[in-house]
Amino acid sequence: MIAASMQEGTIVLDPFSVRMVLAAVILTLIVLSCVSSRRLRSPFTDWWRASLCLFFAGNCAFLLNGTSLLAWANPPGKALVVAGAFSVWAGARKLRDRKISAWQLAPAPLITYVASVLDTAESSLWSGGLVYLGLTAAGLGVSAAEMWFAKSTHTRATKFLALTAALTSLYYLGRAITFVLEGHDGNLFQTVFGYAPAALVHLIFLVSLSFTMNALSNNHLIRKLRERAERDHLTGLLNRGAFLGLAADELAGQRGGALILADLDYFKAVNDEHGHAAGDAALCAFAEACTASVRSTDLVGRYGGEEFILFLPGATQQRAEAIASEISHRLSAMEDPDGLPFPTVSYGVTSTGAEAPDLDFMIKVADAALYSAKAQGRNRVVGADPAEISLP
Ligand code: GH3
Ligand code: MG
Ligand code: MG
Repeated sequence: MIAASMQEGTIVLDPFSVRMVLAAVILTLIVLSCVSSRRLRSPFTDWWRASLCLFFAGNCAFLLNGTSLLAWANPPGKALVVAGAFSVWAGARKLRDRKISAWQLAPAPLITYVASVLDTAESSLWSGGLVYLGLTAAGLGVSAAEMWFAKSTHTRATKFLALTAALTSLYYLGRAITFVLEGHDGNLFQTVFGYAPAALVHLIFLVSLSFTMNALSNNHLIRKLRERAERDHLTGLLNRGAFLGLAADELAGQRGGALILADLDYFKAVNDEHGHAAGDAALCAFAEACTASVRSTDLVGRYGGEEFILFLPGATQQRAEAIASEISHRLSAMEDPDGLPFPTVSYGVTSTGAEAPDLDFMIKVADAALYSAKAQGRNRVVGADPAEISLP
């Protein structure tokens, strides 16, 4: 596919053909990334898509190298490639939630352009060549460093891209050094660091960039979908299925813990008297009171309707009962938007040591205790020891 010509016994890749291939591949990558992740825009994908566009535009400008437009198209071509390298860096910074501003990005392409225009080298193909090669190497080098330290959730995908960016940066450094040592028409520069081999290296880097961008976007989508599948829409707490799975995992860890079932008192009356929205506000307020009263490692779920369930790994019966009381205390101190009092809450609490890790049984025991709390007049915490209770 890539045309090659024989020159004095060595095979030299034809720069124009390689650049045509590069342009076609980058254009395909841009279209694919737009089509596949249109609904998944995030700051880093925006910057990396911009870098693909900049590399594409720079490459198109270089396609004019063999024509009379060379002197006009080549300096912006170099500036665009350098801008592309620094856009990769900007995207990598966004992966780490770091800020990026125009003054950090504009100087390198501007310097490249000015250096290329002002350079009076006899071949405008390589005017300002050292600045162009050095700044591209610098842009990709800082991108590699930034990606290497990206967030742990992105690690696997970005480490690979960091390595590719580092290798491409080193390649550009090699180009810059050889350019200084033997000039653009030297043998080593022509065969290893010339336009055509550089375009191939670029191709590998940009395919890696595009692959990583899609992999990260998919990870992001999977995380969002999992979050949506595991959370209750109204309160943001774990839904029943997710809670049961996580609590069973905790119990399998043989640490034991305490389980709380909570049910809002006379909740139907709240809906009937003040409307469904007031009921929803009370459910959200209760969820907030729960999360404010437990540790981040405790599990809080909406069991269904106006019933909630909590699992506190490693907690004693006494501690769990105290937490239940604290939740009610917090709820009573909270303000309803319409000034209505929030309903009271009844709790059934049970606990287990490492020896009896059966979640279903614990829920049954807590449910029996909750039933007892309702029967005793509501707005109270009733504890039950699984060893002493006899279920119906
Ligand atoms: P008790 O003190 O015995 O628990 O009485 P209760 O009225 O709280 O219990 P009941 O089971 O009779 O009523 C529960 C109500 O919870 C009925 C249902 O309409 C309401 N409910 C369930 N889910 C939601 C919800 O998502 N939003 C609102 N606003 N109400 C809900
Ligand atoms: Mg109920
Ligand atoms: Mg109720």
